[in-house]
Amino acid sequence: MMNKTYIGLGSNLGDSAQILREAVEQLRLLGEVKVSRLYQSPPMGPQDQPHYHNAVAELLTHLAPLDLLNELQRIENESGRVRLRHWGERTLDLDLLLYAEKNIINERLTVPHVGILQRDFVVIPLLDLNIELKINGQSLQNLELVQHSTLTVLADQSWAD
Ligand code: ATP
Ligand code: MG
Ligand code: MG
Repeated sequence: MMNKTYIGLGSNLGDSAQILREAVEQLRLLGEVKVSRLYQSPPMGPQDQPHYHNAVAELLTHLAPLDLLNELQRIENESGRVRLRHWGERTLDLDLLLYAEKNIINERLTVPHVGILQRDFVVIPLLDLNIELKINGQSLQNLELVQHSTLTVLADQSWAD
């Protein structure tokens, strides 16, 4: 069975645009991919770290949730993931934001990903992919943070072509 999933991509170490492009290439090996625009956002957590590059990918995949998480973590590690502190700088972060309409809570995986509704760097790119997207009945486009976005657009949706 084919499942529609959304993956959040972030990077603020190294050549972030290139790292995210390579991550999308890896995601394409897992299924059909569409990407949001590419954004720059201020860091969450420790403020003494570079700005992030962020985007979201829609991935149509046969992989089960934990199998997909394994693949995402493999891609993070193969990008030479460096992460020094909680919410600190990293070369690549791939978060499983949504998996079809599923709610999942286990030791390794919470879906929908915690904090989606509080994070403009996730919500705004999700809206690029699906302006009508709802999470547990909450329409994303109506969220307050959409009006007060801290994001800058770096590139249109052709950035990962
Ligand atoms: P945040 O999750 O708040 O964005 P982070 O992305 O910096 O923080 P990571 O170090 O990337 O956190 O991941 C920590 C753990 O989160 C992982 O080991 C993973 O098992 C767990 N996790 C739980 N739910 C998810 C999810 N939906 N997507 C990715 N990882 C998840
Ligand atoms: Mg994260
Ligand atoms: Mg993560």
